[in-house]
Amino acid sequence: MARRVVIIGGGIAGMGVAKTLKEKAPEDFDVTVITKDTFYMAGPSRPLLITGEQKYERIIRGYEEVARAGIKVAHGLVTEILPDERKVRVAEAPTRPAVREIEYDYLVVAPGVVLDGTGIEGYEKYKGNIVNVYEPGRVDTFRYRLWNASKGTVVVYAPKMPYRCAPAPSETTLLVHTVLKHRGVREKFRIIHVDANDKPQPPVIADIITRLFEQAGVELITSRQIVEIGPDYVVLDSGERLPYTILAMLEPNRAPRFVEEAGLGKNWFEIRSPTDPRSVKYDDILAAGDVAKLPFPKNQEIAYESALFAANKIMEDAGVGERVPVQYAFLGWAYVGNLEGRLETLSVKFGLNFATKPPKPSKDPEPKEEYTKAKDSWEQAYLKNLFLY
Ligand SMILES: Cc1cc2nc3c(=O)[nH]c(=O)nc-3n(C[C@H](O)[C@H](O)[C@H](O)COP(=O)(O)OP(=O)(O)OC[C@H]3O[C@@H](n4cnc5c(N)ncnc54)[C@H](O)[C@@H]3O)c2cc1C
Repeated sequence: MARRVVIIGGGIAGMGVAKTLKEKAPEDFDVTVITKDTFYMAGPSRPLLITGEQKYERIIRGYEEVARAGIKVAHGLVTEILPDERKVRVAEAPTRPAVREIEYDYLVVAPGVVLDGTGIEGYEKYKGNIVNVYEPGRVDTFRYRLWNASKGTVVVYAPKMPYRCAPAPSETTLLVHTVLKHRGVREKFRIIHVDANDKPQPPVIADIITRLFEQAGVELITSRQIVEIGPDYVVLDSGERLPYTILAMLEPNRAPRFVEEAGLGKNWFEIRSPTDPRSVKYDDILAAGDVAKLPFPKNQEIAYESALFAANKIMEDAGVGERVPVQYAFLGWAYVGNLEGRLETLSVKFGLNFATKPPKPSKDPEPKEEYTKAKDSWEQAYLKNLFLY
């Protein structure tokens, strides 16, 4: 009888596991993806929504083609994992009916991250002031504020690593410069980039980002965390107070609460090793994607590769299917905007190969428009591969 594989999260990692199992051992697994939304929206090009160079319709996909290809898709919010009973609890979320409990033989936990700013004073009260490029609603508000503000200060904040997509806060800063320059109001704004890390992330391109910040007149503050948010100011852990008109802030990231409540790890899902992403406590529960405590950056390629390792482990454990070749390495492109204010974003290319020791970095320090196009093709290829259109 086919083993029931239940996957929490229909994103890059969750769909990566589902598709691999269906391709490599179609008769052996009954695959159900539980995901909270009825659509998926790709992450990497969301920053370009604020310059208007990306459109929502190009990065949103439904699950219908996937369902037609034999992967069961259940929409609802997973609230609890019961490892001893081998089932998960699901709450109904608009707009589809949800099954309350789903039983599994193998469970893959791939819900991505939660953005949690509750450790910051004033966070609850002034949450409405926070925008960023990370969430669909907030990125839309961000675009609205950025295109309508007439003067002031934009503060962009990157929390301590690990967080999802290392370059996104620096991308945000340079795209803010681009939009303000394009609007002809750049000299009426201060742009301050506050990084809780010792340099803009990721380290491999920190020198390029720092140089571009200088050229764009961006004020850079490193190794400082925001500890308080007020109505029009933030306070750093040094005690320094910075004014803001627009606060583009990424909160610290963590795994959803149900991971810790099920004993699967504290801030992140504890795995045995990057190549064996099973829970340290349960043989039948695995992690994939950003939720996993991997010693690598949290990005799409790593998330997908971890999904292939998870699928391989399930097939190995069940003694079926054909393993897929995989290793940890990634190639990425960071948007660096356009210093002259043309809405033609340039990007820098960089990569890290973790298959070599020490990991081998690579980069082209020259920002190019062709890299922005390459990133778009890469993102579209992922969507086509996982959502089948
Ligand atoms: C703004 C931004 C820019 C980025 N830029 C890049 C980039 O340039 N390069 C790069 O490689 N990566 C980039 N990334 C990161 C990349 O998108 C993520 O690393 C990747 O999507 C992680 O895959 P995942 O499957 O772990 O999470 P996701 O793809 O986020 O999928 C998680 C899924 O789980 C669902 N879910 C969450 N909680 C629950 C629950 N309780 N119950 C049911 N379903 C749930 C979510 O709705 C989602 O569909 C970027 C991300 C963002 C947001």
